[in-house]
Amino acid sequence: QREAARAARHALGETKDGERVEVAANINRAADAAAALEAGAEGVGLMRTEFLFLERDSVPGEEDQEREYRAMAEALGDRPLVIRTLDIGGDKEVPYLGLAREDNSFLGIRGIRLCFERPDLFLPQLRAIVRVARDHPNVHVMFPMIATLEDWRRARAIFDEVRAELGAGPVPLGVMIEVPSAALIAEQLAPEVDFFSIGTNDLTQYTLAMDRMHPQLARQTDAMHPAVLRLIALTTQAAVKHGKWVGVCGGAAGDEVGALILTGLGVGELSVSTPQVAGVKAALRSRTAAELRQLAEQALTQTDAAAVRALVGAPGGS
Ligand code: PEP
Ligand code: MG
Repeated sequence: QREAARAARHALGETKDGERVEVAANINRAADAAAALEAGAEGVGLMRTEFLFLERDSVPGEEDQEREYRAMAEALGDRPLVIRTLDIGGDKEVPYLGLAREDNSFLGIRGIRLCFERPDLFLPQLRAIVRVARDHPNVHVMFPMIATLEDWRRARAIFDEVRAELGAGPVPLGVMIEVPSAALIAEQLAPEVDFFSIGTNDLTQYTLAMDRMHPQLARQTDAMHPAVLRLIALTTQAAVKHGKWVGVCGGAAGDEVGALILTGLGVGELSVSTPQVAGVKAALRSRTAAELRQLAEQALTQTDAAAVRALVGAPGGS
């Protein structure tokens, strides 16, 4: 079965009856793009740019960043590339930035909040991205940790200023849905954004109030919890209504049960780790779109994640 999945890895992602679901990869550096494409990835649904900052001992310059983003865009050709702006804070510490210690770093100045506080970090990054996007229409940009409409509008306004300054045309802009409040106001966000990308790692952590890194809570911190699935359903419904696409770039997308339920909830792109691409494509081909919609509908009415998983059974089987 694994062999068959590998052999079919370059086929487009789709359900048994041919409904398209794009299967992309989460990769952080251009050097990993070739391996992702070789594994069957149809694009990059999440480039975590903080890795450029985490892997060195000083802030990467604007030119260094531009070089890396450009290499990634070039490696992908005309396949989509979603670059996420800096998401530092929480579990991602960067010692040389000298950030204040916080009692609750996951609830503090992280992600877009840090970027608002630190234009010295945000603006050079946006300039580097916009220069690349000017030459590569496959580049999409998204902002992490958006919690309010105000966050999104403020991020967009800063982005638009940089774009105007560099004389660049429009770039598709999206928000990560990884804070419960963002899912709950998806209806207000949807008309203004170009796309949503759901971060199930943080969305699960913040919905269940369970630290995503906590070893004792690891078993319970499952994105298949119906509480999380309901927030995802609100997000896809709002997006469909306003004609926008929704991806998932959190860990649930690469879990075969997760991939099936998320597709049934209306997600159109799954961005997973490179080794998961072939398995997710094979799982999608095992069910029809109607079967997945029915499964997802049932999932929403379950009492816990284990019940949702039991509902799906072995994803590879028929
Ligand atoms: C997520 O929260 O699901 C996500 C994709 O972002 P990160 O894991 O980088 O926080
Ligand atoms: Mg996140």
